Amino acid sequence: MKCALVTGGSRGIGRAVCLKMASRGYYVLINYKGNQAAAEETLAAVRELGSDGEIMQFDVADADNVQQVLGTWIEQQTEKYIEVLVNNAGIREDVLMYWMKNEQWKDVLRASLDGFFFVTKQVLNGMLLKRYGRIVNMVSLSGLKGTAGQVNYSAAKAGVIGATKALAQEVAKRGITVNAVAPGFIQTDMTAGLNEKELAAQIPMNRFGKAEEVAETVSFLASKGAAYITGEVINVNGGLYS
Ligand code: NAP
Repeated sequence: MKCALVTGGSRGIGRAVCLKMASRGYYVLINYKGNQAAAEETLAAVRELGSDGEIMQFDVADADNVQQVLGTWIEQQTEKYIEVLVNNAGIREDVLMYWMKNEQWKDVLRASLDGFFFVTKQVLNGMLLKRYGRIVNMVSLSGLKGTAGQVNYSAAKAGVIGATKALAQEVAKRGITVNAVAPGFIQTDMTAGLNEKELAAQIPMNRFGKAEEVAETVSFLASKGAAYITGEVINVNGGLYS
């Protein structure tokens, strides 16, 4: 049975990706860190679409935790295997560099960059053996152009972009593609505290994007039809930067 693992699948963009993968018939592994109720809601929505899945709690930034939960799950499977991995979990802790604490630097890098490494490492071997796989990493406009007040977040996402391009070259011969999606401003909990009206005025499309609009791009990159695209970063930002 083909599975799609979505880290940070409980809410926001990750939830929209889970539903998209469910609609394409995947058994969806919904990772979350702490919000079990939200993860359960995503699973219920997956089932309403006629697919199935399970919730999987682990902190992507904790190597031991990823090994214990995801590594053990993979070891125990006889029929299920992960064909699609979406490294979506991430946090932001915005503050000007001058005031940034070591923890704020580390926490943001750990969630996005360490998270990419720890999770992908568990999943990659299975893909190499099957000679097929789709890895999609959620980065950001900030990782491409840099954003003031987000030195930590911009560095984390730029790091994942570099890793995406390098890994893409390592595994291309094995039928595995590795790409990134770079959203601009998307309506989720992460952007709930921002002044949407003011920021939307800077966006050519004059609005924030929807999580579903990001999920569409992820779904395309995760499809068989995207076989000849790898090491690429696709912007989903309403024309803000392209
Ligand atoms: P969100 O609504 O805040 O949701 C974050 C998700 O990540 C939640 O499911 C959360 O789990 C999970 N998560 C956070 N840290 C984790 C960890 N250490 N281990 C496992 N799961 C973890 O965020 P979002 O807006 O959907 O963002 C999703 C991704 O898109 C992030 O990588 C973000 O950087 C990127 N992005 C977002 C925007 C935007 O405008 N929203 C723009 C560019 C890029 P819990 O529910 O358990 O807390």
